[in-house]
Amino acid sequence: MYMVKKSKAEELAIFGGESLFATPKSTSNLVRPDFEKFLSYSKLFFDQRQYTNNGPLVRLLEQRLANFHQTEFCITFCSGFWALTLAISALATKGRSEIVMPSLTYRRMADIAAWVNLKPHFCEVEPTSLAVSAATVSSCINANTALILGVHPIVNSCDIDGLVGLAKEKNIPLLFDSVESVYESSDSGKVGCFGAAEVFSLHASKLLNGFEGGYLTTNDAYLAERLALTRGFGFKGVDHIVVSGGMNTKLNEIHAAMALASLDDLEDQVFRNRQRYYTYKRLLASIPGIRLLEFEESHQTGYKNIVVELLERWTLTRVDTLRILNAENILARAYYSPPLHRKRMAYDHVPVDLPATDILAERFMLLPCGHLVSNDDVDETVRLLSFLSTNANLIINHLQNNGVK
Ligand SMILES: *Cc1c(COP(=O)(O)O)cnc(C)c1O
Repeated sequence: MYMVKKSKAEELAIFGGESLFATPKSTSNLVRPDFEKFLSYSKLFFDQRQYTNNGPLVRLLEQRLANFHQTEFCITFCSGFWALTLAISALATKGRSEIVMPSLTYRRMADIAAWVNLKPHFCEVEPTSLAVSAATVSSCINANTALILGVHPIVNSCDIDGLVGLAKEKNIPLLFDSVESVYESSDSGKVGCFGAAEVFSLHASKLLNGFEGGYLTTNDAYLAERLALTRGFGFKGVDHIVVSGGMNTKLNEIHAAMALASLDDLEDQVFRNRQRYYTYKRLLASIPGIRLLEFEESHQTGYKNIVVELLERWTLTRVDTLRILNAENILARAYYSPPLHRKRMAYDHVPVDLPATDILAERFMLLPCGHLVSNDDVDETVRLLSFLSTNANLIINHLQNNGVK
């Protein structure tokens, strides 16, 4: 189906050649659990005619996720975005105006702050982990700090113990965005049980596919009860006493059915992710100028994302590399670029200079991964990268002469 082998620069799709892949190879997980399992879960709620409002599957999913993360409570939501927003709103210290978060992170993070009327105070990330640490966060803490958002990077985890220690010392609530670390663990335990709470997503592009959805784990009974009420209009009991600030951000039963089927498949998925990762690792080792971000295998890890750094020896710019790959239907993407502090923002934020983030934001890219990418696809992708590496100067000439914008 594929494998138009490229032997000359002119054969690249960006110069009019045939694309390497007939169908796009993306960086979205799009994991597909067993369809029969999805149907058998769905039959449960369908037969009971309870389609939403804390139905049997939402309750089962919450119980299973709480077990998985080894926490007391799990509350599901219609998205990770709203789980984060409502958790921040519940936890942020009242009367204070700033939320500390990384700049090199998920594109919509500043919108989340705006929904809860907090100003993002963007901090640096560590160059080795690409994640926040106690050191990068602590320089942003001041008398206005209402909450620390500890965001896990897409490969490995952030400095969990350091952040927990800092939050305790400064007496500031700590919430983890653990969307990209569902399966990870640290010396201190499994991701899910740290800080005041942790938030995860069930979007189709993430590790657990519930089509859409999100959830929060916590050991705080008061927080769990409050959020469980808020997501369902704030209704309490049959006589519908409205608790303040209610809205509709519940997860429904069909999404829970999909998420349960995905959860059943998780161990197998991680096994497949690991195989893809190992194929990348083995083949990329011989390409000068590209460094694969390696998973820390001393702890449990999900092997989901493939991130590479383009080093000095990689002659093509990242912009050109991405254009060339995208033309081949390899939907590689720049890693969290531009960083949030560089984007124009309509809402209030704390002005900052982040020189380390500026440099890091230019260096990394994501390569195709997930359910629809086979080991052969990985092989073909790396072969193309090897071709780009060997013929970089020729390709650069062609890009200039052919006026490819
Ligand atoms: C995707 C993502 C979210 C939001 O999750 P949704 O379920 O898509 O709303 C939050 N944080 C990070 C780090 C993400 O990657």
